[in-house]
Amino acid sequence: MKLEQCEWSVALPEITVPETSAQAEAASALLETRSPREILQWALESYGDSLLVTSALGAGGVLLAQYLKELAPGHPTFLIDTGKLFPETLAYYRQLREQFGLKLLAVGNGFGEQEFAEIYGERLWERDPDLCCNIRKVQVLGRLRQGKRAWITGLRREQGGERANANVLELQPDGLLKVQPLAFVSRKWIDEELRNYGLPQHPLHGLGYRSVGCEPCTRAVKDSEQERAGRWAGLAKTECGLHRSAGASPATGLSGGSNHATT
Ligand code: SF4
Repeated sequence: MKLEQCEWSVALPEITVPETSAQAEAASALLETRSPREILQWALESYGDSLLVTSALGAGGVLLAQYLKELAPGHPTFLIDTGKLFPETLAYYRQLREQFGLKLLAVGNGFGEQEFAEIYGERLWERDPDLCCNIRKVQVLGRLRQGKRAWITGLRREQGGERANANVLELQPDGLLKVQPLAFVSRKWIDEELRNYGLPQHPLHGLGYRSVGCEPCTRAVKDSEQERAGRWAGLAKTECGLHRSAGASPATGLSGGSNHATT
């Protein structure tokens, strides 16, 4: 029988680092009976500095950054700053760092918006959103992944679409292990955890933005809609490509610029 969320067990056998897909599947099933915080702890103990943590500052990502602050205070959570984030997202980033002490680190693609437009043309997100996401997000992630053996993401099955089958552990073709401590929890549970910690929601959450990405590609959603229905609304596109980027070349297509970190 599947455990309810309040019945997570801590008395389980040692879970060794998986090296094959079959081992990842078996370890995933064991980890699914642990709490998200314990899964993050397992990943930290297993991978240490070779564990990459990213977040777009959705509710789940902020909760994981809070757990990380408790478990490994110096370990950063990277925000990929696409250059097209809402001003509210950047203000939230500063608030979480300065007021709540989360170790967030924004990393960009190295282009200013004028330089980006000179190279790729104006409003690339309208003409070729996949290319826009690739340059602004996927290539930045490719750089962050270099030298890492595991990657923490906030994906949840409840988000639907391609995420509906997310496992706690997923071994990528290039050998990187995706670790998804929130795969099996609900948004309601995460919101409750944030409340318990006294952490604020994203400032646009109260205006109907239950999933917040780049400003040109995100709209508010109605209560009857899925959480991510406001992302690339009206297009067949539902994902930016970050979660299909195993083995992506970190330098593909870049003709200039360099990573920068906003501290
Ligand atoms: S979400 Fe939109 S603006 Fe952001 S990188 Fe993708 S296409 Fe570009």
